[in-house]
Amino acid sequence: MKSRWNDTDAQRYVDAALTDGQSEALGLRIYTSRIVGGDPDLVLHGGGNTSVKVKAEDGSELMHIKGSGWDLDTIEAPGLPAVRMPALLATRDGSKLSDPEMVALLRSSLVDPTAPNPSVEALLHAFLPFTFVDHTHATAILALADQPDMRETVKRIFGGRVAFVPYVMPGFDLSIEGDKVYRAHIGCEGLWLENHGLFTFADNARASYELMIEFVTLAEAELVRKGVILSGPQQSDEELEPALQARITEVLSRQGSPFAKRLSIDYRSTEAIRHYVQRDDVEQVSLRGTVTPDHVIRIKPWPMIVQADADTTAIESALTAYSERYISYFQRNTGRAHEPKTMLDAYPRLVIVRNKGIIALGTNEQAARIGGDLCEQATRAINAAEDYGSFTPIGEADLFDMEYWSLEQAKLKE
Ligand SMILES: [Zn+2]
Repeated sequence: MKSRWNDTDAQRYVDAALTDGQSEALGLRIYTSRIVGGDPDLVLHGGGNTSVKVKAEDGSELMHIKGSGWDLDTIEAPGLPAVRMPALLATRDGSKLSDPEMVALLRSSLVDPTAPNPSVEALLHAFLPFTFVDHTHATAILALADQPDMRETVKRIFGGRVAFVPYVMPGFDLSIEGDKVYRAHIGCEGLWLENHGLFTFADNARASYELMIEFVTLAEAELVRKGVILSGPQQSDEELEPALQARITEVLSRQGSPFAKRLSIDYRSTEAIRHYVQRDDVEQVSLRGTVTPDHVIRIKPWPMIVQADADTTAIESALTAYSERYISYFQRNTGRAHEPKTMLDAYPRLVIVRNKGIIALGTNEQAARIGGDLCEQATRAINAAEDYGSFTPIGEADLFDMEYWSLEQAKLKE
């Protein structure tokens, strides 16, 4: 992976920030956030987050952290709201905060009370003692992060520069665990989040960004070392057969379906997607889960699978099987939740057309396109993960906790 850093562009962002009465650091933060966000092999659609710590005019410590509802590739100053650091740092050795408590704390720490909610990863950004912190779900990292027992491999690949954080739920738990791991590995330059992604940090914008690029490049080299080819993003080069589209639409948008009013379809068929949907074991692999936890809120834990020549009866029985699987997944897991959960609809968001391609379904075009983009990246990561070893994402219980996490559900309402 190549660095997209460019001195002239960086200076342009600094000049613009200074003209707007903002700090040079915030200008650079906006710039490197955008070049992170501009690479679909680093982050997609609201994934990933970035921060920068600055001193206020009165000398107090502030942190600009990505706000919920913003995408990195188009972020502007209001998308990086400032929070006061002391209250955040005080949680480091305190007792566990519930989700509402953490959100309330983050909101009450906002300098501008009307700003968007700070990222659910804000506490970890605050704890890491570096001016700039970058977090991504890079494709090459996911191909390796979704493997069993990678602690020693991570040590070998990065030579101790990246510390290994076993999977924990994003939010408060990850912030506390990530901080503990960092403090046990003072001097490391990144955190490897098992089944999730990567953090890098440094005291200047370019260094933190370029550590991300360097570590992703090392992950790519590890894949190459094992003879694994990780292709770059690919454009769809085949259309969905109109008759199949008509049958899918008929079944999926029937009364009672979340798509009854409107069904938007985003069909992709790329070389990587075809490689995936032609696998003999595609059903078994696709049932394992999503490549990074937060995808589950947009594409559900697994896709539905149909044959390319499926008639409406076959599509209906695939849908019934999907719904039954989803309902039993909900029933198996809801008992563990601290508060009662309401089941979401039991309809898929992705449909694998065997040997052909993948359809992303949405109640509007944007939702369908986001689903399509996520599955374009995910299939490349899964293909590489399977070629490297065994695609092993978080298990069902963790997927459920993520899908039914109030802080994730809130993102869909934005
Ligand atoms: Zn993340």
